Amino acid sequence: MKVERISEHVWSLSTWVIIPIHVWAVAEKDGITLVDAGISMMSKGIIAFAEKTLGKPVRRIVLTHGHSDHTGAISKLLAKYPDAGVWAHEIEIPYMEGRMAYPGRKKAQQSVQPGLAQPIAGSADGETTRIGGLSVHLTPGHSPGHVVYYHEQDGVMLAGDLFTSKKGRLKKPMPMFTADMAEAVRSSEIVRKLRPKRLEVCHGNSVLNPADQLDAYQKSQRLDAGKGVSLPR
Ligand SMILES: [Zn+2]
Ligand SMILES: [Zn+2]
Repeated sequence: MKVERISEHVWSLSTWVIIPIHVWAVAEKDGITLVDAGISMMSKGIIAFAEKTLGKPVRRIVLTHGHSDHTGAISKLLAKYPDAGVWAHEIEIPYMEGRMAYPGRKKAQQSVQPGLAQPIAGSADGETTRIGGLSVHLTPGHSPGHVVYYHEQDGVMLAGDLFTSKKGRLKKPMPMFTADMAEAVRSSEIVRKLRPKRLEVCHGNSVLNPADQLDAYQKSQRLDAGKGVSLPR
């Protein structure tokens, strides 16, 4: 597993299985807040990082959304850190618990054991919810209850699958797995609002000063949509 310190408090841990898969460890006073939980095989590397590099336990696992490539290491991490809490947005929970099928999918699928994740509420417009050192922002589209996490002190946005990226440029999330692309593009406004210094995506590399390229990103997605090629419903 590749480990990279991306700011004073945030580390990026990644592996590559067909596509890159990143999770992020945020160092807090009381331990580690882990953003997303990748795939099962990443659990060993995450635990080794927590023990050897930071010497702190995983206190909380906060999910950007419930797709299985973001939840895979949860059960092995909880076996090691039974007191760690798991959070996801309240809108996302019925989908990841397998009670509802994600929009555009035929079948409901369970990616997190029912009852395990606690709901994050109230992160729609206006009021800001905080978990550990992060603020939480609802950014639906890729999935109905997708959120991004923002570390204000470091100016780092952990954006999950709100985007992918290529060579430092913002790209749209993977169409095949995106419930509502037009909504995902609208949700990209959060970048203009918060103006992070650095944005991280699960499936791609870092994007510096992403607000500077937001107009170009949104324009290219509108053109795509006009051609009718990239709007799976
Ligand atoms: Zn996803
Ligand atoms: Zn993903």
